[in-house]
Formats: sequence, C-alpha cells, structure tokens
Amino acid sequence: MPPVSIERVGAGGRAVVDFADAGCDYPNVSSSQVGVRRCVARERPARYDAEAPAPRLAEAVATLRAGLEQLAAADVGDAADGELGEALLALAEVQTRLTGQEARVLRTFDAREAYRADACVTAASWLRFRARLGHADAQRRCKRARVLRDMDGLRAALEAGEVSVDHVDAVVRRAIPQRLSTIVEHDATLTELARTAEPRHVAVAVARIVELADPDAADDPPPSCTREDLRGWSVRRGFDGLGVVDAATSPVLTELLLRVRDVFSTPDPPDTPPEQRRTPAQRFHDAVLAALTTALDHDPGSAVGGVRAHFVVFSDLQTLLGRDELARIRPRLGATGEIDAETARHLAATTDPTMRAVLGLVPWLPVSVGRARRTLPPFLRTASQLAHQHCRGPGCDRPYAWAEEDHNKDWIDGGLTALFNSAPLCEAHHQLKHRDGWSITFDPHTGAVTWISRDGTRRIDLPPPEP
Ligand SMILES: [Zn+2]
Repeated sequence: MPPVSIERVGAGGRAVVDFADAGCDYPNVSSSQVGVRRCVARERPARYDAEAPAPRLAEAVATLRAGLEQLAAADVGDAADGELGEALLALAEVQTRLTGQEARVLRTFDAREAYRADACVTAASWLRFRARLGHADAQRRCKRARVLRDMDGLRAALEAGEVSVDHVDAVVRRAIPQRLSTIVEHDATLTELARTAEPRHVAVAVARIVELADPDAADDPPPSCTREDLRGWSVRRGFDGLGVVDAATSPVLTELLLRVRDVFSTPDPPDTPPEQRRTPAQRFHDAVLAALTTALDHDPGSAVGGVRAHFVVFSDLQTLLGRDELARIRPRLGATGEIDAETARHLAATTDPTMRAVLGLVPWLPVSVGRARRTLPPFLRTASQLAHQHCRGPGCDRPYAWAEEDHNKDWIDGGLTALFNSAPLCEAHHQLKHRDGWSITFDPHTGAVTWISRDGTRRIDLPPPEP
C-alpha cells in the first residue's frame, strides 16, 4: 500500500507525486508544483582503496582539519567570480556530507553510551556540555543520527551530498518512535523525492505517509495526531530581565488561552492617558498572569519540594532595608535570574504571602541539620535552589523542581543532611552516579560541584551556575 508514488519524468528530474487519497487535508503536490532540482552527480575523487585498511577516525579528522586550515589560508579576494561560485557550491556539498559523517559518528557514540565517561546521561546533554551547543541544536543532531540508522537510502544520499540536510530533517522532525517503522518502509520513495523535490514537499509526503498508514494494524499503536506531536513550550532568558517564550500550542491549549484572555483581561480605566494604555498583546499577557496566579492560589498541591510559594525571591536582608551598599548577595528570582534592588523591594512589599524570600544568606553558606533528618527541610531546599538552580549533572539543565537532593556522602555512610553535603540531581543522574560509581562533592565556598569517576581517573569540575 504505497500511499505515495513517484516517477521521474524527463531528463530534468521532474517528479510526479501522486497522493491517492482524495480526502487529504494537505495540499496536493503535482508535477507543476514540484521544483525542478537537477541532481548533479559530480565526479568525486577516488575514495580510500577498498583493499587498504580503513583509516583510523582520529587520523581522518586530523586530515580534515588540515584541509580546512589550507582553505582558511586561501586568497578569496583574488578568486575570479566563477571560481567563487564553484567554491560556494563545493562548500555546500561538503557541509552536507560532513553532516552525514557527523551523524555516523554520533550514532555509534550514542549506541555505546560513550557520553557516560563524562557523567552525562544522554548524547544530547554531552553535546551541550562539551561542544557548548544549544538545547535544540543538540537534540536535532541526535535525533537525525538515530533516525538515519534505519533509513539506508536517505543516509547514503546524505553522506553522498545528494540531498540536503533540510531534506533529511523534513523526515526526521516527523519521525516519532510510534511511526518510525512506517516512515522507514518508505525510505526509498522519500529518498527519491528528496533528490528531486524541495524539503517542504518531502515534509508533505511524510505527513501523507503517516496519515495513510493503517491505524488498525494489530500490534501498532495508532499514529498520533501530527499537530499534537508538534506542541511544545520553552522559556529562555531574554534581554533586560524579560523572558522569551517559544510555544507551539495544541488546539485545546490555544482555545484555553483565548478563553483566559477573554475571562481574565481587564480594560484600562477610562481616565488612563493614551500613552499609558496597554496594547492588546500587553493585556493578553496580564490576563495570563492573572489566571496563573489564581490557579496557584487555589491549587492545594502547588508546593514544590515542600515549599509552597508562587515564586521565590532571593535577597539580602540589607537590600530589603534599603541599604544596598551593605548587601552581600544581589537579589534574584528563583529560576529567572537577577533583578534590581528596587524590584526586589517592590515584590517584597506587594506579593506576600505568595513569595518566599531567603534573607541574609551569603553565597554557599554551609547550613546543616546534621543527622536530625534524612532529607533537606523545605527552608534548606530554598537555599539549595539559590546555590544550584538545576540538576548539577554535567550538561544537565533539568529544573530544580524535577531534581532530588543527593547526599554527596551517602546518609547510610554517616553523611549529614546539609547544604554542603548536598546537590540536586535529576533521576537519570542519580542512577548514573550509582551505576557507574561516581562520587560527587560540592564546595560550599565556591559553589563548584566536582564529579570523580570510580577509579579516580576522570575528574569533572562544574563551576557554579551563572547568576
Ligand atoms: Zn541531570
């Protein structure tokens, strides 16, 4: 039951994509819509002789580096126009093929769990930790490597530079585990389409393949709704204390947000001067804020780690008393970052009792309840959040609320329940610590956390999180 059939027409490589099902929501793709993209099969230099032993990976990478240095030394200004164009085409092809090779190496690295040598729990977090990649970038590379493992045709086409990374990602983005086997079945069809059509057409073809797959297949879970799969939120720090929300909301949440806007938005008083009137977007923002505050006020389970507070402000007592010059820590919000002293005083004056403040706590001040109890009491958890902010595993940024306090020296071995013997670890890092025998120390004077491998040969120093 191939839902998509493709045939090549003419020497130009024009593709005809035939979607059989007339009830489809997606735009039909016909030969006139598919861009003609010549598949350029360039002569390639001979590769390593099949008889010769394969080069070692490190040697091959060193050769590549040397080539790049030669390229960097080349005189671009003296090149003729045609030479520049040829170079750009060649560079685009090399970049694509390099991505194919990166995926090949990453696939093996991931399968062997080689990231555990650095106390990381996923290949993506290892890439963030060691290569300083962004969250989304690291995830994308790992997923691409994993999906290509099963797609021989697409993998070979990428490694040969015959399809672009965008073509591959059009497939990879939609390849959630439940539908991977369906997509893999159509590897040859999708590869052929990727060679001749644009990435967006490949994306449409994948969507159609998934949609037309038999949902009643005996053992297969039904394919999820594509739109639901694409939902997601992230919040990152923007400029000047603002947060930036990237969100793709499901239809239900979209509806709810609009409802919240209607229910919770309040008009500006009639006597508000025109220059102080809020924009529609600002009113929407304020409505969501009001709705979330109401939800936290009325939800009996809104405590995190025993701390029932809508948000946490860390501030020196001197700041709240207006004596900024005597304050030893700068005020900050629990998860968002620093705020100015004036804002801290304003929040302290206006938000009680939804705010919890830690007063007069200098950074890394050792605080302990000794052996009196096994888990950190809520007031120390708040202080720990100030010190650590998130899981202290290498490359890990799972939020503090999702982590458990780990006794650096185990309780069973006489370890104290104290800030200086404690660091938050997510579940995966907890397991990794015990499985691989890492020991962890937290230096309360500097805020650094150190991971030391079982045999003592690997030591990873993690500086304190940035304020
Ligand atoms: Zn972690």
